[in-house]
Formats: sequence, C-alpha cells, structure tokens
Amino acid sequence: MAQVVIVGAGPTGATMALLLIKRGIKVKLIEASRDFKRLFRGEGLMPSGLDALEQMGLLELVADIPHQSFAAWEFILSGRTLFKVSEPIEPGGKPCTTVSQPHLLAAIVQQAEKYSEFEFIQGEAVKDILSSNQRVSGVRLGSGREITADLVIAADGRNSLLRKQAGLNLTQLQSNIDILWFKLDSGSLLQSENIFYSILHERDGFGLFRASEGQLHIGWGLHSDDDFDWRKIDWAEKLAAASPPWLAEHILNNRDTLTQPLLLSVIVGRCDRWSIPGLLLLGDAVHPMSPIRAQGINMAFRDVIVAANHLVPLLIQAEINLSQIDSVLLQIQQEREPEIIRIQKLQAQEMAQAEMLHKSALLRWGARTFTPIIRPGIRASWLKRQKQLRQGVTPVHLAV
Ligand SMILES: Cc1cc2nc3c(=O)[nH]c(=O)nc-3n(C[C@H](O)[C@H](O)[C@H](O)COP(=O)(O)OP(=O)(O)OC[C@H]3O[C@@H](n4cnc5c(N)ncnc54)[C@H](O)[C@@H]3O)c2cc1C
Repeated sequence: MAQVVIVGAGPTGATMALLLIKRGIKVKLIEASRDFKRLFRGEGLMPSGLDALEQMGLLELVADIPHQSFAAWEFILSGRTLFKVSEPIEPGGKPCTTVSQPHLLAAIVQQAEKYSEFEFIQGEAVKDILSSNQRVSGVRLGSGREITADLVIAADGRNSLLRKQAGLNLTQLQSNIDILWFKLDSGSLLQSENIFYSILHERDGFGLFRASEGQLHIGWGLHSDDDFDWRKIDWAEKLAAASPPWLAEHILNNRDTLTQPLLLSVIVGRCDRWSIPGLLLLGDAVHPMSPIRAQGINMAFRDVIVAANHLVPLLIQAEINLSQIDSVLLQIQQEREPEIIRIQKLQAQEMAQAEMLHKSALLRWGARTFTPIIRPGIRASWLKRQKQLRQGVTPVHLAV
C-alpha cells in the first residue's frame, strides 16, 4: 500500500487527501497554518466547482456550513445599470454560490480523520523536499521530522516552496491589478437577493457581494497607474463616491464597521512542467489563478478529480511501481493543462474589458450615454463569454 504526503490543506490538498484516504490509500496531510481562519480565502464556487464537489460526495456538506447563492450579476457604470443577468444562468442549473472556505476545509478534514491511516499534521510547515535515487522521497518539516512517501503532492498554493525547491519555473502571465479587500456590516442589505455587483465609476472599479457568513465583501481593483496612495485614503468616502446612492448611504452609515484594506497581490501563471519524479504539483502551486470570475477553487477541485483517476489504480496496488506512478504524473498534466490555459485566457479577456473602461474616458462616456441602445449587445456578449468560465472547458468525471 502506498504512502502519500500532501503539502497544504487548502481546497486542493484537503480534497485530494479525502479522495485518496477514502479509497484506502495512506495519507499524511501537512498544513502550515494552525487553523483554517486565514485573513482571506476566496469562496465563490461556479457550477463547475459545485459539480466537482457533488462528484466527490461533498455537496451535502455545503448545506450545513455558511453559504449564499447569488441571485444575479449586475454591472453598474457611473450609478447606472449597464446590464443585469439572473442566476442560475443555465435553466435548471446550479447558481454560483459562496461557501465559507474555513468551514468547508474543516469539514473535509474532519471526514478524513475518521480513517485510521490518515494523519493531519497542522501548524507545521514543510521546509525541504527529500530525494533519493534522483526521485523525491519525502519532506522535512521545520521541526526536523522527516516523512518519507511514495508520492509527494504539492498543494501549497501560489507561493509554493515545493515548486521552487523542485526547480519548476513559474511563467507569470500579465496581471495589471492587485486587489484591496474590505469587509463591511451588511445589515439586511442583499439578504433576500444576493447580487454580485461590478461597479465602475470614472477610473475606479470594485466588486461587492454578500459573503457566506453575511458580511459584505468588497474587492477594489488597484491599478499600477492609480494617482493615489491607497494607504492614505479615507476608504469609506472613496467607496461611497464610486457607488450608486443606495450603496453610498449604506457604506457611510456603517463606516465604523469597514475593515482596514487587505492587499492581495494577484499572481497569475503556469509551470511548463507539473511534476518531477516523485512529486506532483496541483492547484495554485502549479497554475495560480486570477480572482476574476472565481476560478481558482473550481480549477483546483477539477485537478484533484483528474489526479485521483490516474493515481488511485496505481496507489492501491500491493506492490507499488514507482516508475509507473511517475509516468502518470505527465498524463495528469496533459489532461488538465488545456482547460487551465483556456480559463486563464478567458480571465485575461474579462480583465481586458475592464481595463479598456478604466483607461478610456471616451468609452465610459459612450457606454453611459448610449446604455439603453448598447445594453442587449453587451449583455449577450458577456453571457457568451461566461459559459466556459462557469462550466469548465474539458469533461471531468470522477471514475475511481
Ligand atoms: C483576491 C482573490 C480572490 C479570490 N476569490 C476566489 C473565489 O471567489 N473563488 C475561487 O474559486 N477562487 C478564488 N481565488 C483563487 C483561490 O483563492 C485559489 O485559486 C485557491 O485557494 C487555490 O487553492 P490551493 O489549495 O491550491 O491553494 P491555497 O488555497 O493557497 O492553499 C495552500 C495551503 O498550503 C499551505 N502551505 C503553504 N506553504 C506550506 C508549507 N511549506 N508547508 C505546509 N503548508 C503550506 C497554506 O497555508 C495553505 O493553507 C481568489 C484569489 C484571490 C487572490
């Protein structure tokens, strides 16, 4: 029976661990943080991510943890609705839903802990990978403890240490924004109808929604050509100035509850190689995703399903054949890479649309002045672009 070590208990590592342990494979899951309450964890799930959770038998968990479905997407330009689209977009489909990531991760690990062959090492970071016979053979923790494995899976996120130690180069794709993240008391705002708002005013733009635990979450796009220092801004005033009147009033009335801005640097990229013998990278560790249209967790779940399909038949064998394991690592990359390339391209296209409006006062004027005329065309073109971002590009079916 094989021993697998998974580094990182984010969406990739936690689900990978559960799929393997449920199929009788020994797993040690190592997580640097002491708990799952990180300052920020993305939580929007598209239908493709919800479908992946369903395939993994985890969708029913969502019912018991904080979550909120979206009722619509609405784009507002200088206080006027450019267009609005109701959820679910696909008739009879699943609506995009925010799910509390700390609760989801805790519930997944709790399920894994029911299996005696599972070990969760929490609050300890991996510091080194171990090698023997030109193959990764385990990891060393900060405490010096060494853990050997037939396969190490790096699910340690966009700043992956294991990626660097393995010498796998991340080619970064252009990303023109960073995100400032705020939370704000919601009162009853968006309670009965949770709309994801994309709000653009002059050169400023932000997204706002009611998150899984009821607070309003705000992601402000920070551009390299901004003419202000974000650390010195009265953010309640700045957000209110860019908002339609009903929202400006709410922000100013609740300004005491507006959190300090949290700077989230956006890294987007891909590795040319997803593995070396004995080590496989999955999720953000190998293809950090832009936050545009909530793709990262969804892609991570789909990586995990494909990896399980290839790995489980080899890992459950009584005699473990290490070179067979290494050869399927390449197949996992081949199967997943086309979707990741396409989704990152679509995210870049979405970003380019926002950038055009950010940069061109003429375009903003035209869009604002001729809104009723251009609305149907813009709405139809947006809808067309969303299909793959919502449903994925390649078929992904859990077969083990
Ligand atoms: C502003 C922003 C908003 C986003 N919003 C969304 C969204 O709404 N929906 C969506 O789908 N995606 C979103 N994303 C992307 C999403 O957060 C990531 O794609 C997703 O979290 C990737 O999951 P992961 O498990 O691969 O990595 P991570 O979630 O980063 O998890 C990696 C884990 O590894 C641990 N770790 C790191 N190093 C070590 C080590 N050396 N030893 C042990 N443990 C280690 C970390 O503590 C962490 O828990 C957003 C991203 C950003 C920047």
